[in-house]
Amino acid sequence: MKNLIAALLVIFFSINHNLSAWGQTGHRVVGHIAQQYLDPTVAKKVSKILDGRKLSMVANWCDHIKSFKEHEHTFWWHFINIKDGVKYHQAKHQKNGDIIEAIERFSKTLSNSKLDHSARQESLKWLVHLLGDIHQPLHAGHAKDQGGNLIKLKWFGKESNLHEVWDVGLIDYQNLSFTELSDSINFVSVKQVQDWQDSDVYDWLDEAMTYRSRVYDLKSKDLSYVYQAHNVEFVNHQLLKAGVRLAGVLNSLLK
Ligand SMILES: [Zn+2]
Repeated sequence: MKNLIAALLVIFFSINHNLSAWGQTGHRVVGHIAQQYLDPTVAKKVSKILDGRKLSMVANWCDHIKSFKEHEHTFWWHFINIKDGVKYHQAKHQKNGDIIEAIERFSKTLSNSKLDHSARQESLKWLVHLLGDIHQPLHAGHAKDQGGNLIKLKWFGKESNLHEVWDVGLIDYQNLSFTELSDSINFVSVKQVQDWQDSDVYDWLDEAMTYRSRVYDLKSKDLSYVYQAHNVEFVNHQLLKAGVRLAGVLNSLLK
């Protein structure tokens, strides 16, 4: 019975939880920006691990595989449900894993040069994706509304939900390609790069939770220009921060 309930829950969440995070453009922006902050020797190693591909081009792989039966269990690695004011180590653990433990696990496998090529390649793809996800505030969300998926609303007149607005809506409304968006936001001081990189996955989780008041500040359920104007710079800032931090993680793991 327990197994049946677990299976039904997976199906339920899979249908209801649109967990692409940042959508395709957002994830590519994170990868594209990170690529520019890699140490030259690390960039060479990254290229070798990815068989010559760039970080931006592998950033969405984890979303593509989710639909396959054999990868269904990975659904849980894209997010964490956590209550206000709770630290990771106090939180109720998701038994199939969560984004924090997944980032730690893939960091270990990527840095282990004794592991085979495909295991390390997969770990790198996961890290590129999950560093993006953890900077989307609703991937550290409330269980009660499934990270905003249950908050149904309209986005410029179309049926949507709060999670999707943050994954895709706020980014796609800018109508820029991933390279155009990256180039338009990639202005950051050396000091800022250091400050952002001088942090760990627990800091990123705590930080994501502090943005809840902004995300949930809905004056109506019919969102358009005003919500976009209030949040677009913030979203872009999160993408930039995620890219810079991803580079920091890779520089440290592959040095
Ligand atoms: Zn994801």
